[in-house]
Amino acid sequence: MNEFQDKVVLITGGTRGIGRACAAAFAQAGARVAICGRTLGTTVRVAAELGANVQGYAADVADPASVDSLIAEVSDRLGPIDILINNAGIARDGLILRMKNEDWDAVLAANLSGAFYCCRAVARGMIKQRHGRIINISSVVGLHGQAGQSNYAAAKAGLVGLSKALAHEFASRNITVNTIAPGYIETDMTAGFTEEMRAAALARIPLKRSGTCEEIAAAVLFLASDGAGYITGAVVPIDGGLGM
Ligand code: NDP
Repeated sequence: MNEFQDKVVLITGGTRGIGRACAAAFAQAGARVAICGRTLGTTVRVAAELGANVQGYAADVADPASVDSLIAEVSDRLGPIDILINNAGIARDGLILRMKNEDWDAVLAANLSGAFYCCRAVARGMIKQRHGRIINISSVVGLHGQAGQSNYAAAKAGLVGLSKALAHEFASRNITVNTIAPGYIETDMTAGFTEEMRAAALARIPLKRSGTCEEIAAAVLFLASDGAGYITGAVVPIDGGLGM
């Protein structure tokens, strides 16, 4: 399947978890893929593991200058970006009475401002091409909230608003902007769950299992495909029914 032959795809936070699975799936489908993470050595190693279609770049999405350099470098080396996946994210959980300003700021910066910087940086090229796909990785937590995650929930809800605003702004240029809201996916981000937390999470999921990174990647590829050309401003929950 070479549906994405020679399309240029940028995935933020592609070094592991959901981002890495997306990179592998796009590369398999013929795309030229750029992944970024905060450490050059890691991104280059992961890119090499994923094959010749994948390149690794160091960038901190929380830093607007770093994002601008990333987009310029990727565009120079691979060509104009056709598909942007804003996936990079962190969690710094805590009940609000104990939440430090730094934890609020860091989560908002990486999860929400990072997506804004990336969307702004790719917008000019996509508008010029009159084609583009932007997919933002939010969370069920951004739709429903979660105790101990006020910073993360605010950032992920903000991504939904950002996506819908841009879906309006870009629609006349044939650029779609959609949001995916994963539920409980086994990655490094959820590796710190205790058995008790894991059991409690699974008990609330109608499908009674966690999701896989590959299941998120499959939805990302669909939204990036020509077949999804009439979908914009949508929020797609991939959560085993958790949000029903
Ligand atoms: P991981 O912790 O496994 O991976 C996070 C990725 O983001 C890494 O590649 C990391 O790269 C990168 N990253 C983090 N901060 C930055 C930054 N400032 N600049 C650049 N890259 C950064 O997370 P997941 O794969 O689980 O999550 C991916 C996305 O999906 C996140 O946005 C997350 O919020 C969301 N999500 C995850 C869920 C889950 O259950 N796992 C559920 C719902 C949403 P590096 O460390 O190399 O810099």
